[in-house]
Amino acid sequence: MKILVINCGSSSLKYQLLDMDSEALLAKGLCERIGIDGHLKHQPQNGKPVFDQDVALPTHTEAIAAVLDKLTSAEYGVVANMAEIGAVGHRVVHGGEKFASSVVIDDAVMAAIQECVPLAPLHNPANITGIEACKAVMGDVPQVAVFDTAFHQSMPGKAFLYAIPYEYYTDLHVRRYGFHGTSHRYVSARAAEMMGKPMEELKLISCHMGNGSSICAIDGGKSVDTTMGLTPIAGVPMGTRCGDIDVSIPDFLCENTGKDIKTITNELNKKSGVLGVSGVSSDFRDLTKAAGEGNDRAALALEMFQYAVAKTVGAYAAAMNGVDGIIFTAGVGENDSAARAGICRYLGYLGVEICPECNKKRGEDTFISTPASKVKVMVIPTNEELVIARDTKALVEAH
Ligand code: ADP
Repeated sequence: MKILVINCGSSSLKYQLLDMDSEALLAKGLCERIGIDGHLKHQPQNGKPVFDQDVALPTHTEAIAAVLDKLTSAEYGVVANMAEIGAVGHRVVHGGEKFASSVVIDDAVMAAIQECVPLAPLHNPANITGIEACKAVMGDVPQVAVFDTAFHQSMPGKAFLYAIPYEYYTDLHVRRYGFHGTSHRYVSARAAEMMGKPMEELKLISCHMGNGSSICAIDGGKSVDTTMGLTPIAGVPMGTRCGDIDVSIPDFLCENTGKDIKTITNELNKKSGVLGVSGVSSDFRDLTKAAGEGNDRAALALEMFQYAVAKTVGAYAAAMNGVDGIIFTAGVGENDSAARAGICRYLGYLGVEICPECNKKRGEDTFISTPASKVKVMVIPTNEELVIARDTKALVEAH
C-alpha cells in the first residue's frame, strides 16, 4: 500500500509518499506561501528531476491538487495514477484528551479535532484545512489522524496537572499535554531495538532538540512526563521560545513596557530562547559559529540550553527512579555533537560516559556512550512521517 503523509501548516504543506510494503520513500516535497502566491518543491526519489517552481496556490485544495499532479506526472511522477495511493496520514497537532492513539478520520473525529482548536489555535485549523483539501481532491480515500499529543496521554495526573484551581482543568482543560509525541514514540521504540531489550523493561529519556525542543521521560514504553505543556512554549529554552520562566514575568513586562499581553506573548514565542539571549540567531549552527568567534552571548545561549536539558534529564531520572538510556534526536540532537557533549558533561553522576569518537557521528542510529557507560546514550534520527504512515496502514487495513 502506498501512503501519502501530510503535515499541513497555515501557509505550507509538507508531504511524503511512502511505499509501505518496503517502507521506501517514493517522493517528498513542500508547498509554501499557500494563499499568498505559491511555490512547490517536489523531490521524486526515483531519479526523475526535482520540480522547484512558483505555482499559483490560492488555497490548500490547489496545493493538494498540485502535489497529486506532480506525483502522477510523466516527467516528475512516482506513481501511474491517484488510485495507487491507498490512504492519507495527517499529522494533527492537538488531540486534547480525546485521542490517546491515531484514528481513521470520520465526521465525529473531525468534530473532535475542531473542539481542540482553542488548545492549538494556530495548528489545528491548518490541519483541518489539509484534511478537507484531501477529501475535496481525493474523495473517499481513507484518511488517518496522528496526533502530536497522543503519546503523552499516558502521563499520570501528578505529571500533567498544574497546581492551579482544579476547575481550570475540569472546565477549560488546562493541563500539560506535551508535543513531539510521534517523535518520542519512534525514537524510544528504536532505542529499545538498539539496546536489545523489551521496551517494558526500559527507562528512557528522549531529548528532541530542534527549533522546538522537548524532553520526555518514557517508562516501560509509556510517556510519564514531558517538558512542553498546555502549549509548546514550555520546557527548555528553544530557538525562539523562552521555555519555562517565572509566570509573573509577562505581567511585569506589560506593566513596565506598556506593551499588551499579546505582544509580550508573541515576544516570548518568537523573539526569545537562544535568539533572545544571543541576539544573533535561533539557528544553532549560527550560534556555534558566533561563539567560536568570541561572541559571549552566543556562547551563553548555548550553555543555557545545555544546562536546561541536563537539569531536565536529572529531573526525569528522579521521576523514573533511574534511567537506562538517553536519546538525542531532531536537528540539533542528530547533528550537534558539541551540544550533546555539553549536556552529557553534567551527567557523569548518573554513570553517563561519552565516547568522543562515536559522538562525532551524525545522521545515523548510533551509540555515543562508551561500552562501560552505565547509561546508554544514543543518537537516533527521528522519522515522524514513517510513524504516521505505519499507523495509517495499520488502521486502514484493520478498518
Ligand atoms: P524543527 O523543529 O523546525 O523540525 P529541526 O529538527 O529541523 O527543527 O532542527 C532545526 C535546528 O537544527 C536548527 O537550530 C539547526 O541549527 C539545527 N541543526 C541542523 N543541522 C545542524 C548541524 N549540522 N549542527 C548543528 N545544528 C544543526
